[in-house]
Formats: sequence, C-alpha cells, structure tokens
Amino acid sequence: MMKKLIKTILLITLTLSCSKISVVNRDGGKDASAQPQTKVTEQKKELTLKEKVEKDLNSIKAETAVVPKKFVRVKNTKKVNKFCKKISKKFLNYGWGHSRCNSFKWNHVRNSVWGDPLMWVTFGDEKAHKEKPKNMTMVLCGVHGDEITPVKFCYDILHHLHNHLTEERLKDNLIVVVPVVNPDSFFKRWPTRTNARGVDVNRNFPTKDWNKKAQKIWRTRYRKDKRRNPGKKSVSEPETLFQVNLIKRYKPNKIISVHAPLTIIDYDGPTVSNLDFHSVAHKANNLLIQMSKKAKGYRIKNYPFFPGSLGNYAGNERNIPTFTLELPSSDNRRHKEFWGTFKSSIHYALFHAPMTNKIVLNEKSEDEEQKKSN
Ligand SMILES: [Zn+2]
Repeated sequence: MMKKLIKTILLITLTLSCSKISVVNRDGGKDASAQPQTKVTEQKKELTLKEKVEKDLNSIKAETAVVPKKFVRVKNTKKVNKFCKKISKKFLNYGWGHSRCNSFKWNHVRNSVWGDPLMWVTFGDEKAHKEKPKNMTMVLCGVHGDEITPVKFCYDILHHLHNHLTEERLKDNLIVVVPVVNPDSFFKRWPTRTNARGVDVNRNFPTKDWNKKAQKIWRTRYRKDKRRNPGKKSVSEPETLFQVNLIKRYKPNKIISVHAPLTIIDYDGPTVSNLDFHSVAHKANNLLIQMSKKAKGYRIKNYPFFPGSLGNYAGNERNIPTFTLELPSSDNRRHKEFWGTFKSSIHYALFHAPMTNKIVLNEKSEDEEQKKSN
C-alpha cells in the first residue's frame, strides 16, 4: 500500500516537473501561469488529431461505399509515372482527393512545349474498331489551362468508366479520354488559358479559313487579345497536333469537349438540313436534348465557332458531332456538384447514343506519323 502511494507521488512529481520544463523551454521561465494553459492546448491538439483520424477513416469508408471496383496500380512509363505524381499533388492541393492516375493505362506519343506527356486512356478495342467501327466517343478536357474544373471532370469520367465498364459495353463502344490537353498551362502557378508559347490551342486547328481569317480576326475583332492568340500558323502547337492526330486515328463519331465557365452546352456539327448527314444530325440533336434534360435542363446555346477552333475543325468541316460542355465555373471547390449534375448526361452520351460518320471514316489516319514522332 505504502509502496503504491510513494510510486504515485513520484509519478505526479515527475509529470509536474516535466511539464514545467516544457513551459520553461517555451516561455523562457517568465510566465509560470502558462502551465495549465499549455496542458489545455496539448489536450486540444490530441483531440483534433483523434478527430482527424476518425474523419479520414470515415472518408475511406464513404469512398469504398461508392467505388465498387478496386483501383490497382498498373504499369506505365517512367515519364507517365512522373506526370501522375504531379497530377496527384495538384489534386491534393485543390482538395480533389486521389486522382488514381496510376490505375489507368496511359497512351503517350508526343509532348507539350515544356515536355510533359500528352496522354490519353482508351477504353475498348481499337483494333476491332478499325475493322468494324464502334460507337466511338472522344472526351477532351483541360484545353484551356485556367479552366481547372474540366480536368477533375475528366478524371471523374475515368473513375466512372473504371467502375461501370462491362465486357458487354466494351463490345460496342470505344472511348478515349484526355484529361489534360494543355498541361503546361494547367501546372503553372497561376494557370493560363493559352499554352506555354502563349497560343490559344482552340484557335490553332488547321481549319480551311485559318490562313485567311485567324490572324486577321485576332488583330481586328480581338485587338490582339493575348488570351485568343491563334499562333503564327495553324497547328503550330504540339497540343493542337495532338488532338488532330487523335481525331484522325480514332475517327470519333462524337466529341465531348469540356470547358468552363459559360454554363451552356453547345453543339457544332451537321444540321438536319444537311441531307448527306440527316440521320447523324438528327441523332446528335436528340443527344443534345437528352444531355441537357439529364442535367436539370442545362442551357443549350448555339455558340459560334471560330477559325482554328475544334468546333469548326471537327464539327463544321468533318461533320463529327462536337458537344462543348461549359461547366458553370472554374472554382475547384465545386467539382462534386458538377460531376453530380452531369454524370448521367455523360453516361448516356458514352453508351446510349451511337452515331456513324461516313466522311471521317474515309479520312487517312496518321498513325504512322504518330509512331515516327515518338
Ligand atoms: Zn475554354
């Protein structure tokens, strides 16, 4: 009994002297009354840590509840792995959680101006598509580096596909997802619309009117607005060539290009008055309406296309139905809301809206050129 009492007294003295030392060390021995306060703060710190751990555990539980399939790391090139690390860091900075970049098999042929890989993920059998065309959808995000929510949106699509693709669906569909078309601008400390050389990648496509109009319109109508610089010549930028080659290689029968913040969905492509493409136009129009309906009646607006823009190159000149989805904002905090709004529109567009396109299928592929440039 006596021994126990001595032990307890010793323990108390030890604890007191210990906390005293810490107070003396922190406050230079000037303020003895700081002692109890320190204890309270320490207690508080401990509680916050506990709360943090609990919160983390809860979030993991929530995540596993929504994500039925496990994300497993797959083998990619060193360059891609390095890029994935960069993406993951950005994701954490923006409060977007895990990118799971490493769980996807990336294709990569060329690089951005500053040397980042321009990469995409393919879902489905490309070889079979060449023999018998499938419902081929191409999704492009991060064309303008300062529109950051589209990048997260494309990753949401990747995660969705990872969880919802079945053998059955893969039979008829081929999907290409490009989450960051313009990585140089996205990774800048202060992201910009234009690429590393100050060119708007979405004014740099080799459209028929480019030589005659692109520079002229930029100088007169836009008074050399830096944000809309079409470049010195068409397809001068690797990020443009990258998209051109993807279109030629995969021959999509529809393209979904995600931007922000105009809060509209816009369509470029054949219209019903075009007799050669009457059926495609009809289907595209239906899809436009469905996409809007499934997103709480999201506003459809016919936004004009420009010399060198994707809508002009793919939609107008190649008759590939091109849907530009302009998210409501570039605010990184609203990413969940945006995915929630458009999830079923995207799902519908990818799996339930097949269209065929005769002309694009006849255009020569530049696969060989792509391979050479590797
Ligand atoms: Zn944009």
